[in-house]
Amino acid sequence: MKQVLVVSGKGGTGKTTITAAFIALSGGQACADCDVDAPNLHLALRLQEVSSTEDFYGLPKAVIDAARCTGCGLCEQHCRFDAILGQEGHCVVDPFRCEGCGVCTWVCPAAAAAMQPWKAGELQLYRQPLLASTARLHMGSGNSGLLVTDVKRRLQSALEAQALDPAVVFNDGPPGIGCPVIASMTGMDVVLVVAEPSVSGISDLKRLVKMARGLHVAMAICVNQGDISPQHTAAVVEFCRERDLQYLGSIPYDPTVVELVNQGKTIVDQPCPAGRAVAAIHRKLLNFVMHPDQEQGMFP
Ligand code: SF4
Ligand code: SF4
Repeated sequence: MKQVLVVSGKGGTGKTTITAAFIALSGGQACADCDVDAPNLHLALRLQEVSSTEDFYGLPKAVIDAARCTGCGLCEQHCRFDAILGQEGHCVVDPFRCEGCGVCTWVCPAAAAAMQPWKAGELQLYRQPLLASTARLHMGSGNSGLLVTDVKRRLQSALEAQALDPAVVFNDGPPGIGCPVIASMTGMDVVLVVAEPSVSGISDLKRLVKMARGLHVAMAICVNQGDISPQHTAAVVEFCRERDLQYLGSIPYDPTVVELVNQGKTIVDQPCPAGRAVAAIHRKLLNFVMHPDQEQGMFP
C-alpha cells in the first residue's frame, strides 16, 4: 500500500477538491483527512454518518480544587501563560489559556492544583463503504500534530481489521508548514503540492519542498488554476525543473468546479476541463507513486 499526501501552502487552493477527485478516480477504498483543524473531505465525498468515534486527549490541563486552595496566589504569580485567576478567595484555571506546563502543581503549598486529562477532540471513522479516517479538534485546543498521527494510526488499524490493502491511500493534508503538516508528511510515499500561481504560492511551494526534503519524502507538484497567471505557472515549472521535482501539470480555471462542488459532486463526476486535467494528473501521479525511480518525463 502506498500513501499519498496532498498539501498546499495555504487554504483555498483546491486541495480538498482535488483529493476528493483522486479518491473517486481510484475507486476509493480508503482515505484520511489530516486537516483536523478544518476537516471537509467528508463533505466533498458526501460521507453521511460517522460509524465510530474515539475521544482524543491532548496534553493534560491544570485544575484547582477550591476546597483545598487557600488563595495564596503563588500559582497565579508563577503561571507564564496568565491562565490562573484569583476568584472569591481561591484561584481558578482558564483551560483555554492553560498550556499544561504543570508549574502550578509544583508551587502550590496546599496540593490544590493537579493535572487532569483534557478532551481536545474526537477521532471519527466513516465506512460507507469508503473507509475514511478524520477528526475534529475542539475550539481552542492545540496538539493537532498529535491528532493527525492518531488519524493515520486509526485508518491503519481499521484497514488491518478489515483485511483491506488498497494500492494507494490518499490523505488530505493541512495547509501551511506547521506541526500538523510535519505529522502528516511523516511516513508518506509521495507528497503532492497543489501550488497557486502567484508570488506567495511559489514562496509557499519552496517552503514545502524544503520541509519534505528534510523528511526525505518524494514530491510531485501541480498548479491549480494555472491559466490565471501563465508567468507564475511557468515559474513553478522552472523551479521544479531546477530542483528535479516531478511537475505533473496544471489545472485550468473552470467555473464548472464550483457548480459541481455545490451539487455535492467531485469534479470528475461529469466531464469538464478541470476534471480532465485532474484525471491526467492522477494518472501521472499513480505512475510516479508506483515507479518513483523511473524517468517520468513530466515537463511540458
Ligand atoms: S499548568 Fe502551567 S499553564 Fe496551566 S495553569 Fe498551571 S502554570 Fe498555568
Ligand atoms: S498556589 Fe495552591 S493554594 Fe495557592 S492559590 Fe494556587 S492553587 Fe490555591
